[in-house]
Amino acid sequence: MEKRRRIIDYNLIKILSSLGCKILRDELLLKHCSFKIGGPADFFIEIPNECALLEFLKIVSGFDKYYILGKGTNVLFSDEGYRGIVVYLTEDFKKSYVFENQISCGGGMLISDLLKTTLKNNLTGLEYLAGIPGTVGGAVYGNAGTGIKNEWISTSINSIEIYKNLEKQLISKEKIRFGYRESELEDCIITKVNFSLERSIKNDSLEKICKNMQKRLKTQPFNMPNAGSIFKNPSGFNAGKLIEYAGLKGKRIGFAQVSELHGNFIINRGGAIAKDVLYLIDLIKEKVKEKFNVNLETEIKMIR
Ligand SMILES: Cc1cc2nc3c(=O)[nH]c(=O)nc-3n(C[C@H](O)[C@H](O)[C@H](O)COP(=O)(O)OP(=O)(O)OC[C@H]3O[C@@H](n4cnc5c(N)ncnc54)[C@H](O)[C@@H]3O)c2cc1C
Repeated sequence: MEKRRRIIDYNLIKILSSLGCKILRDELLLKHCSFKIGGPADFFIEIPNECALLEFLKIVSGFDKYYILGKGTNVLFSDEGYRGIVVYLTEDFKKSYVFENQISCGGGMLISDLLKTTLKNNLTGLEYLAGIPGTVGGAVYGNAGTGIKNEWISTSINSIEIYKNLEKQLISKEKIRFGYRESELEDCIITKVNFSLERSIKNDSLEKICKNMQKRLKTQPFNMPNAGSIFKNPSGFNAGKLIEYAGLKGKRIGFAQVSELHGNFIINRGGAIAKDVLYLIDLIKEKVKEKFNVNLETEIKMIR
């Protein structure tokens, strides 16, 4: 049997614990993602504040492989899990502060909590994010949005605080390139995001949020574990429609199945493994290429 590299030793665990970190060994990753798929991570560490984060980075830098996870709504973990440390931001990283029309929030804050804060403070401009699960950090990393008009999270960002190479940096939005479901924020940890919003005059934000939620509930399989859209929409095409016209809606491998409701969603019918999903992804790519000569590119992040 392969010998695992136990990276963090007892003393380091003691240091991190004393700083408020919660450290779990051999933690099943299926518990930490919306797909409910994934084997164990060597370590799963919850980090409560910047002081602990900096200490963690000092300890692991140059030695250990780590992966920063948000709410796990856009990832597929491997069945073998992750040989390294999965990092999750909690406590201080879930807080927000409002000043006039600016919201400053932690990278670990849920999008749904950010929307509650905007409602409470009569701020508008992010209603289209309603129904997108996950954290602010994950949303900014992948420039989450609907793809309609300017409905990308990057549109309302002012600046971002990140940790990169043990250094804290505040970067203004203009200095970051955002694209369709991507940003150039690679190899960094997004700890804070500063948004500039508008004052809500009509007070119709809640109505907009409810409408967006209702639309999603009708068109997306919210009742089954999934990871959102599996593929990016190729230029000029809708990935879900291509998959549907290729006759793949409902196609099943093991316990993974192309949703009957939305062609671009794969659902876990209970007990699906990553290998099932990967087979299905390959099959979809192959059939769509064969039928429409279009190459599909995955949107979800595969982590191994
Ligand atoms: C039902 C459903 C509907 C969805 N609809 C949409 C939609 O309409 N539009 C859309 O854009 N997405 C959608 N998604 C995908 C997903 O919800 C978003 O991409 C979300 O923003 C991911 O956030 P997360 O916290 O879950 O990130 P994760 O899935 O945990 O991580 C995604 C990526 O972000 C990185 N990351 C996470 N946190 C940080 C951080 N603090 N610093 C640096 N990197 C970080 C991770 O390393 C990973 O590479 C949907 C998903 C589901 C399940």
